Amino acid sequence: MPKEIFPSSFECDCGHQSDFFENTVRDMKAMSQKKKVYLADAAPEEHTIVFYRGKMVEIQCPKQPPSRETKKSSPKSRPSKKRSTTRGIPDEVKTDIEAIVQHFNTTAIRSGH
Ligand SMILES: [Zn+2]
Repeated sequence: MPKEIFPSSFECDCGHQSDFFENTVRDMKAMSQKKKVYLADAAPEEHTIVFYRGKMVEIQCPKQPPSRETKKSSPKSRPSKKRSTTRGIPDEVKTDIEAIVQHFNTTAIRSGH
């Protein structure tokens, strides 16, 4: 995990430290309340600090391809739930209900309700 070093420096997983002006970091955090904000390091090997909702959420490292981390959280391998076979009304029950309704109708009509 990338580290935030108070008040305005950030350390990447690779050990690289990016320093910014305190004002810059404060502005970036303020801007990041509604959207993601990217703050690029001025160093030759450019690190980009990503802010979101008022705090640093990620450091994009030029030494680490970003695709490696995101694949882990894919829910692909999650076992799927067994599909219930008792879904819907079985024919047997359906006929029963029909019979009951039929019976009710007949008796209700006969008894004058
Ligand atoms: Zn790095």
